[in-house]
Amino acid sequence: MISLENALNVVLESSFIIGIEEVSILNSLNRVLAEDIKSDMNMPPFDKSAMDGYACKSSDLKFALEMVETIPAGKFPEKSISDKQCAKIMTGAKIPEGADFVVMVEHSEVLSDGRIKFTKEPLNKNICYLGEDVKENEIVLTKGTLIQPQHIAILSAVGCVKFNVYKQPKIGIIATGDELVEPYEKPIKSQIRNSNGYQMLAQVQNAGAIANYMGIAKDNIEDSVSLISKALEENDIIMLSGGVSMGDFDFVGVALEKNGIKILFDSIAVQPGKPTTFGVGNNKICFGMPGNPVSSFIQFDLLVKPLIQKMMGLSLCYNCMKLPLKKDFRRKKTERLAIIPANINSDGTVEPTEYHGSAHIFALGYSNSIIFVPIGINEIKAGELVDVRQL
Ligand code: AMP
Ligand code: MG
Repeated sequence: MISLENALNVVLESSFIIGIEEVSILNSLNRVLAEDIKSDMNMPPFDKSAMDGYACKSSDLKFALEMVETIPAGKFPEKSISDKQCAKIMTGAKIPEGADFVVMVEHSEVLSDGRIKFTKEPLNKNICYLGEDVKENEIVLTKGTLIQPQHIAILSAVGCVKFNVYKQPKIGIIATGDELVEPYEKPIKSQIRNSNGYQMLAQVQNAGAIANYMGIAKDNIEDSVSLISKALEENDIIMLSGGVSMGDFDFVGVALEKNGIKILFDSIAVQPGKPTTFGVGNNKICFGMPGNPVSSFIQFDLLVKPLIQKMMGLSLCYNCMKLPLKKDFRRKKTERLAIIPANINSDGTVEPTEYHGSAHIFALGYSNSIIFVPIGINEIKAGELVDVRQL
């Protein structure tokens, strides 16, 4: 058994960048930038009003002012502001020449002769100045940024509609097990539905990679070897579910080796997920995930997702925090790192979910996080801090 930390190091050492491709901004959500992006203009591009109000000279605030024009957003001001004059101005419109102040419309009144008088001592100039957010040619997004909606706004604003992103790894998913039928089939007798394969498919998509479902391999060497061989041809990474324990019909390790894959570990000191298997060969990366969906879900989060992120050019970010436990926790065996489905409560505490073991997918269905109980620890008191990761 190797530690989770060592397992993660081995996995990450196998990573490689697949390549770079150009995408349109419309197809760029959840991709990772492979270049720095610069602004092609100053932002704002001109001094603009931050409010609907009146633009005037700051020296004129106490006087009644003649209104010389109305400036909507998008219109270039026609008049410049002289003493005792103002222009009605809308949010986002260019400040006219001569004005250095905008008084918000809520703090003004129109006198009977049409002049404008301000009713409150103004606090702010209400002007956003040319280039105060970003200067022309300044880098606005750096290589390695995971593109989220807020980054799409930045790309749009600087006119960057096509740019380079890292290629996504393609991940082939194989479920193994004579007992499995697909979710759209009704299991008979001793069968169950393949839930793990589809969970892995969704996890891959969620992690931003391309998921390629390869089907179910029967629990025999020939079937496993041939489906693995096909999956290796079509994908950068393959993930198998099941067949990695010590049972008489667990053939995944052998079938990987028969395909020229070198197994680098097949046992991790974690619970659940101990038999998680990892191998490499011919520029391909292979995971033998446990068959039980909770184990597999957690191992994906701990090992596969960081690898996908690294292969997509993302700087690794570990989503981990320490929170106080709601109730006392005890366990008997302590030789493995325990990972337990849990919920973060609104009072900022965390507590384990009712959990019957690694086949209990429903426990994960109503958990928002997992907690980590280190090797050697059998008891944690309420109020003590534990490592928590949000799902
Ligand atoms: P195995 O590692 O193949 O012995 O599988 C461990 C447990 O996980 C067994 O109870 C299997 O029936 C179950 N299992 C294996 N594959 C899947 C799957 N794709 N979906 C749901 N359960 C599975
Ligand atoms: Mg099996």
